Amino acid sequence: MTKEDYKKLNEYLNEIFLYLSKNDSFFLNNMQYFAVMSEKYLNFISKYDLKLKKIPDCLTFIEIYDITREIIKSINDEYLKEYDKILDNGVLGFDYSTLEGDFKTDLSAFNSVNGNKEIILRTNFNYESVTTLVHEFMHYINDCDTINRYLLTEFISISCEEYARRYLVNKGINKELLQYDDRLIEAKKIAREINFYIKYLILFDKFGPLDENGYIFINENVCPISRETYESDCLFILDILRKKEDKYKYNIKYNIQNQGSLDEILSHEISYGYRYFFGDLLSFYCLEFNDIKDIVNLCDYLDKNYNIVDLLKQCKIYIEDEDFYQKINKSIEGHINFYSGEAKNLKSR
Ligand SMILES: [Zn+2]
Repeated sequence: MTKEDYKKLNEYLNEIFLYLSKNDSFFLNNMQYFAVMSEKYLNFISKYDLKLKKIPDCLTFIEIYDITREIIKSINDEYLKEYDKILDNGVLGFDYSTLEGDFKTDLSAFNSVNGNKEIILRTNFNYESVTTLVHEFMHYINDCDTINRYLLTEFISISCEEYARRYLVNKGINKELLQYDDRLIEAKKIAREINFYIKYLILFDKFGPLDENGYIFINENVCPISRETYESDCLFILDILRKKEDKYKYNIKYNIQNQGSLDEILSHEISYGYRYFFGDLLSFYCLEFNDIKDIVNLCDYLDKNYNIVDLLKQCKIYIEDEDFYQKINKSIEGHINFYSGEAKNLKSR
């Protein structure tokens, strides 16, 4: 890392901090919490052999729509009033094109822009399309413009998506037709990223611009690290952020729409995943210890002025309890046991 490299890296980090302090102060204020949480998760999950699976097509569109309807009804039959409209009113659409500009995307999504809402499914035709539709439909159901919705909508959607998988297994669907390890794998990937980036963010936050001696502060304040690792990490982060900037400039040059501002894109690289990571872990917790109705209740509180700790209490999740991490681990064991043995009944539904 040359002096110019550190200068550029610090400019990026400065932009990221300015953006996040305006748009996601929850993440900045809780970096230490997520550092601990990601470390604990990585230690715990390392003993499991998780598998990504490709699932064959086996359903028609109508079957996907109908099975999803049945699951939505079991989550909350009040939601059917909305669900039964999404085809006629054009909210639900399928998109089979996998190219957008020059960059491939195959992710399903819920979008809400200026009051126009759409659920776009980009999937194959199988039971995972069902769990995806449940996930996106829940974003549609709790759509509102509040910070609590921003923080918890993935938790709600992932919980209902995981609920859908268990519902299908209990209905007799072969569990091998479901990607039941996917959220654990996703959480592992994000935990690694959080764990990697966050020590540099904490360093920048506490001690200002990074330089060649930064490893000393990390050693004293965060975790043991060698000078070589510190330098190669800084270089890696700089490289990633430069590539993001290059892609941003490319998109402007070729007039490719639908990208955010540069500071948003850079921040996204670092902070995008934690809501999914948090949502993944909380959803296992909720399915193990609580009822899906608690998730439904939570949707009613997203536009109210609660802090997140109190808000999660509405959903019977107590993140400040001493045994919170043990309960997360127990719930992940519960999840793994559910798919490794005979299907058990879902709790009191
Ligand atoms: Zn989502």
